[in-house]
Amino acid sequence: METRLIPVIDSTGSRQYLDAPGRSYFEAAYHLNSLLGDVVRVDKDLLLLNAEEVWMLDKQTEIKSIRRDLRVLYQEKIEVLKAGNSATDINESMNSLSVRLFKIERADRRNEPLGIGKYVGNCTRCGREAYDGRAPRNTEEGLFCNYSCRSEWRREQKQARK
Ligand SMILES: [Zn+2]
Repeated sequence: METRLIPVIDSTGSRQYLDAPGRSYFEAAYHLNSLLGDVVRVDKDLLLLNAEEVWMLDKQTEIKSIRRDLRVLYQEKIEVLKAGNSATDINESMNSLSVRLFKIERADRRNEPLGIGKYVGNCTRCGREAYDGRAPRNTEEGLFCNYSCRSEWRREQKQARK
């Protein structure tokens, strides 16, 4: 099978080259990008790709990221329901992410750019980064990286008041 060496980069900026099957650099990069997790990403800048190919890779990355967020929300929903709390907010987030996923999957070049979820601040409870549309925001309570964090925070607040 024909392969290409594709440059990948991690969050520390460390670069490696990985062998991936493909008859072109784009084909190999696209294949690799579908398999990579959050830590390592394809280093697009080092590949000579045209605008269409860059857009395809970005779209694939965004779809992957939304799917990951939805998986996390499903897990959180189970936790929240187990704790006997309401999952209304989680359902709302899941709905908007699902709509977004649907739109991106159907998007074509005319609809660019895709607009990745914006960083909105850090979590009131744990300090991790929170992203627009993926985190519960509540002006009174603060901003949270996810629903479990807010659920935990509420529980802690209740305990502290006792
Ligand atoms: Zn948090």
